[in-house]
Amino acid sequence: MELRDKFGRKISYLRLAVTDRCNLRCQYCMPAHGIDIVDRKELLSYKEMYRITRVLSELGVNKVRLTGGEPFVRKDFVSFLESLSFNDKLDEINITTNGALISNYIDKLEALNINAINLSIDSLHKEKFATITRRDVFENVFDTFEKLEKSNLKLKLNVVVQSGFNTDEIIDFVELSKDKDIAVRFIEEMPFNGKGQRDMEELWDFNKIINHIKNQYSTVESVVSKKSSTSKNYRIPSYKGTFGIIPAFTRTICNDCNRIRITATGMFKNCLFDGGVFNVRDFIRNGASDDELKELFIKTVHHKPENGFIAEANRGNDVSESMSTIGG
Ligand code: SAM
Repeated sequence: MELRDKFGRKISYLRLAVTDRCNLRCQYCMPAHGIDIVDRKELLSYKEMYRITRVLSELGVNKVRLTGGEPFVRKDFVSFLESLSFNDKLDEINITTNGALISNYIDKLEALNINAINLSIDSLHKEKFATITRRDVFENVFDTFEKLEKSNLKLKLNVVVQSGFNTDEIIDFVELSKDKDIAVRFIEEMPFNGKGQRDMEELWDFNKIINHIKNQYSTVESVVSKKSSTSKNYRIPSYKGTFGIIPAFTRTICNDCNRIRITATGMFKNCLFDGGVFNVRDFIRNGASDDELKELFIKTVHHKPENGFIAEANRGNDVSESMSTIGG
C-alpha cells in the first residue's frame, strides 16, 4: 500500500504544523495584531500527531517536516520530537523554525538525529529584522544561526524576498555561503498573510532573483538536486555552501511534488494552495481505525491536483489565510 496520485507522483513527505501560534508577527505572514488562533482543544494533540505520522509512514511517508506557527512555542515539542525519532520508518525529521527560542536545544536536536533545520531569517540587520518580524529578537536568532552552523545539523536559511525590504541583501545572503556549508534559499513571497492580497510593491519572482544574482557574479553553477526538491539550487564556484530559489508563488516545481500537509487543526491538504480536503482530527476523534485512516489517505492523495494553479482554482476563493494557519 502506498500513496500515489493519478499523475503517478508518489507521496513520501509530510509537512506537519504542530501549532498555529507564533512568537513573531512577520509582516508578510500575518497582521500586526496576529491571527485568530484556535482554541487549544481544536489543535491536534501530540498523540494524534504521532498516530497520523505513524499511519502515513506505513504508507511510504519517510520524511516529515515539523512546522507551524512556530513549533518551539508549543509546550513539550522537544519530547514530541523524541517520540517521533523512535519511528524507524522515518528517514528524515526536519524542522522549520524562526530560531528565536531554540539556542539552548541544539545539543538535544543533534542527539535526536534531526536531519536538517530550516532557519527563517529575512535580514542580517537588527533594525530591519525588527521591522519585518515586528519583534526585537534578531540577536537570539543570530545566536541560533551561529550555533547551528557549528553543529552537525544540516542548516538551510529561509529568506522571503520582499520587495522594498530586503532585496538589497540578496547578495549578502549569497556571500554567507562563501565560507559556510549552508544552503541559503530565497522564497518568492506569497499573498498568505492572514488578510488577503498584500500590495507588494513588485513580486521578486524566480527569474528576477536569479538574474539579480547572475548580474553580480561571472559564474553561477547549477547544483544537481533531488527531483522533488522545493528549490532550484546553485553555487558560486569555490564557495562552500549553496543557494537556491523556491518558486513558491510561480509554482514551476509542482510536477515533481511528493508532499502533503496537515495543519495544526488536522486539516489535510494535498497542496499549499488548496483549501483543505478533510479534517483528520475529526475523523480520528469519531473513532476511525488505522485501516480506515489509510483508506482515506490513499483515496484523497489520488485526487491531488496537478499543480498549485489548479488547486487554487478549485478552492473557489482567494487564499487569505496566514502561513501560520496553513502550516509553512
Ligand atoms: N515559525 C517557523 C518559521 O518562521 O520558520 C515555521 C512556520 S513559517 C510559516 C514557515 C516559512 O514560511 C518561513 O520560512 C516563513 O518565512 C515562510 N512564509 C510565511 N509567510 C510567507 C509568505 N507569505 N510568503 C512566503 N513565505 C512565507
